[in-house]
Amino acid sequence: MQRQFEELRASELYCPRCRTAQPVREKLLLVLPHAELHDYQCTICGESLGSREVKAPPVMAARR
Ligand SMILES: [Zn+2]
Repeated sequence: MQRQFEELRASELYCPRCRTAQPVREKLLLVLPHAELHDYQCTICGESLGSREVKAPPVMAARR
């Protein structure tokens, strides 16, 4: 439902186990004061394909 992070999100990553790009499941690992740590897992085999730190969006009055 959230669309603000679309550019930062990976929908598919290369999975070394499946040997092809697979859709990934994004899992929230950790919430930091300034960012969130997300983990990406292969939806097929569950392999962890990487994590990413997502900076918290600036809370501005930019929302319509
Ligand atoms: Zn996989």
